[in-house]
Amino acid sequence: MRVDLHCHSRASDGGLTPAELCERALQRSLQMLAITDHDTVAGYRAARDHLRSREPAGALTLLAGVEYSCVWQNLGVHVVGLGIDIDCEASRAAQAALRAARLQRAELIGARLARLGMPDTCAGALALAGDGQVGRPHFARLLVQRGHVRSEEEAFDRYLGTGRPGDIKALWPQLEEVVARITAAGGVPVLAHPIKYRQTATRLRKLILAFQEAGGAALEVVVGRQSADESRFLAQLCRQYGLQASVGSDFHRPGPWCELGDIAALPADCEPVWRRWQEATTEGEQSCTAMRER
Ligand code: AMP
Ligand code: ZN
Ligand code: FE
Ligand code: FE
Repeated sequence: MRVDLHCHSRASDGGLTPAELCERALQRSLQMLAITDHDTVAGYRAARDHLRSREPAGALTLLAGVEYSCVWQNLGVHVVGLGIDIDCEASRAAQAALRAARLQRAELIGARLARLGMPDTCAGALALAGDGQVGRPHFARLLVQRGHVRSEEEAFDRYLGTGRPGDIKALWPQLEEVVARITAAGGVPVLAHPIKYRQTATRLRKLILAFQEAGGAALEVVVGRQSADESRFLAQLCRQYGLQASVGSDFHRPGPWCELGDIAALPADCEPVWRRWQEATTEGEQSCTAMRER
């Protein structure tokens, strides 16, 4: 089954509209897609509406998805929620809190950049984000536009990346809280891109244990362009902690990064997190329907 359960649209820091993402997924013969924008389901909602009105209907199962920001022991962590009820109280509360946190963080980032000689960036970043959730990539793009740096990469390296002045995690909820919100919304909590946190194996195990004890269900075993060794290592951690396996490109926009649906095979001994929805689809009527709508 061709599956991609992690990607971004313009509802957060992606470059394509939700409809464009769906069309790209169909073009690339994906059968199941989750749009997992940072802290919002607006991308999923728009994609669902696009697929509902599409003629002809495409053979694409769209899962409700989101990627929540949180902290665990002062480490910024992302938890993907799959198959959540997007309209329930838990989802609304989580997204309202995270939207407020993002706006407040944007002001703090703006203040810090101003002290470094780059004034008035908050309003500019908000303008670039439009209706979507504002994030560090919007600041990065603005710093390039204003000539403060030559590339977004440089913006992250100097000002926005881990440990830099614009890296502010204090406003995010705790890992346990976002996992509970996903569970309360009837969704499946997935620990996003475990390798990206650059932790020692010991500390990564501690994080995974905390995630599992909080109610976490799966790890992203194949994500982006990581090595086969890394995927095997994560598959082993799934076995060890009784977790299922997810896959995702973490696609943001066309370019040199990982393409939508460009996903290496899952190690054989993994239990795919999407099996529950796969069965629902094959038994269900048409595949071009959004799952888990209530
Ligand atoms: P935020 O959600 O605002 O904290 O921003 C996190 C997003 O910034 C990630 O999902 C990536 O899309 C992007 N990002 C993080 N680090 C880098 C980097 N070093 N270079 C480019 N983009 C990055
Ligand atoms: Zn992103
Ligand atoms: Fe992420
Ligand atoms: Fe992501």
